[in-house]
Amino acid sequence: MSFEELGLSAPVLQAVTEKGYTTPTPIQEKAIPIVLMGRDILGCAQTGTGKTASFVLPMIDILAEGRAKARMPRSLILEPTRELAAQVAENFEIYGKNNKLNMALLIGGVSFPDQERALEKGADVLIATPGRLLDHFERGGILLNDVKILVIDEADRMLDMGFIPDVERIVSLLPKIRQTLFFSATMPPEIKRLADRFLSNPKEVTVSRPASANANVVQGLVVVQDDQKRDALLALIKSQEVKNAIVFCNRKRDVATLHTTLKKQGLKAGALHGDMSQPARMETLEKFKSGEIQILVASDVAARGLDVQDMSHVFNYDVPFSPEDYVHRIGRTGRAGKTGHSFTLATPSEGDLIDAIQKLINTEIPKVEVPGMDAAALEAGDGRRRGRGGRRGGRSSGGAPERGRGPRREPRENRQPRGEQPAESAPIEAQASAASPESQPEARAPREPRAPREPRADRPPRERRPEQRESRGERRPERSSEHRSERRPERHHDRDDGNSPVGLGDHVPAFLARR
Ligand code: AMP
Repeated sequence: MSFEELGLSAPVLQAVTEKGYTTPTPIQEKAIPIVLMGRDILGCAQTGTGKTASFVLPMIDILAEGRAKARMPRSLILEPTRELAAQVAENFEIYGKNNKLNMALLIGGVSFPDQERALEKGADVLIATPGRLLDHFERGGILLNDVKILVIDEADRMLDMGFIPDVERIVSLLPKIRQTLFFSATMPPEIKRLADRFLSNPKEVTVSRPASANANVVQGLVVVQDDQKRDALLALIKSQEVKNAIVFCNRKRDVATLHTTLKKQGLKAGALHGDMSQPARMETLEKFKSGEIQILVASDVAARGLDVQDMSHVFNYDVPFSPEDYVHRIGRTGRAGKTGHSFTLATPSEGDLIDAIQKLINTEIPKVEVPGMDAAALEAGDGRRRGRGGRRGGRSSGGAPERGRGPRREPRENRQPRGEQPAESAPIEAQASAASPESQPEARAPREPRAPREPRADRPPRERRPEQRESRGERRPERSSEHRSERRPERHHDRDDGNSPVGLGDHVPAFLARR
């Protein structure tokens, strides 16, 4: 099928051609005609499938007629992270270059006045993260009564990041009569229930199984002692033909340390983590995309939505705490039909984490040896995964563990028992035929670090519950680790942002309370 057959207008088709796309991806083929018909969509699709264009292209055509009034956007796209929101905005500019649509991007870490000016001009398309959108709403800078199209993107990620109460609130501010496009990489029951509430007679569009794999990534596992991880990484980088790579760390302080190490080795390295200002994050990403930075040391904040063409390698300097994050991290390479490589450094005590990953992807990650280094063996796991606070053995940075992170609820049902025993270690060169898993979900992404909400000038600031303070990026007063672990909801994340975990807190959204 060609783009011409999808019913898009000539200006949009021209922009698509100029972008160099010749054939629609499966999600575009399925979703675009439905969106153009005005139907709601329940889309199960991951990033990397061309999902963004599947809603952006028809939206441009639907919105082509009409003008937005000041502070009254005509459409709203909700994204869980700043990076994703910025990426969707970029897409809008590219695909909408032959249309005169006004766009506003509301994300944290960027000054309010510029965003207010964009709203004042009248936004045909508003792209926002939930927290910043509500901040504007509470300041009286925006009215949502005119929104005709709502897109909720990465809904499972929103759930994971604790944004669902905000999303529910936003939806309650929208007109009941509207078109809603709802996308999620996975469809756990709570997401399905949420979709049932937000959508009206939707058409379901699924382009890959909830646990589908990127078969183009050749994976390798390197087991080394903790104090050898840095040398192992350097040896790997030197032994591989690395065009460009992301090195993932679990903690932001390790990002900084490793960044310095790589630069000292003469590598063109950059760093990306949630404590950086938004302009600094965007600048680093631009440099990485342009090739000025070859190796980006990053926390998971970079994992979701980072769309760098033709990335050759992903290195997991730390095994991610959640197996879904593993899948998402390695999914940054092997895109657009190209072969990518991923190497994961594990210490002997991380057998459980590796186990959980292998169960999720239903594949043994082949072990590889780093030349000149002694390969260690994974300790047999006790079958239970541990969060950060509960890991045994050494740690890369030697610091005390921060808050723990409990095992995740989902998608346990997707995991399958491991069939085979671990493969023998192979030297790096011999691992080209490594795993090509058939099943791998888009993993969970990081919580967006959110700017503290600024109180309105005309009223005293409200006292918030601790959970609310956290979800706004404010720090919770220190508590003992036991206390924290007692209170920690299972789904909470604890990662680079340095924010306390965000979850549903005391608020139980209505859709979760339903039986
Ligand atoms: P997305 O899933 O929206 O993040 O898109 C993933 C990547 O696919 C982006 O780099 C897009 O530019 C690219 N892409 C989207 N649609 C097409 C298409 N029809 N043909 C080729 N590449 C595409």
